[in-house]
Amino acid sequence: MAIPIKHEDAETVAEFPRLIERCHFCQARTRWWHENTNNPVCPGCSKLHKVAELPDWGKAIRAYKRKQRTTSPA
Ligand SMILES: [Zn+2]
Repeated sequence: MAIPIKHEDAETVAEFPRLIERCHFCQARTRWWHENTNNPVCPGCSKLHKVAELPDWGKAIRAYKRKQRTTSPA
């Protein structure tokens, strides 16, 4: 099963024209992302790999935010 990817929106590209991440698999510079895990994945690799091969940064970030919510004063 291929990885569903999403292109960075035009606003982000305009705001950060020099911020280009490298594909998790082939290190090619890309503006395509797998949204749920927050990993850059180029269109070529998205067809050859599956989501389970990506580290889930999304989950780590969500856990971090959850922790911040619970530890910050109400
Ligand atoms: Zn790639």
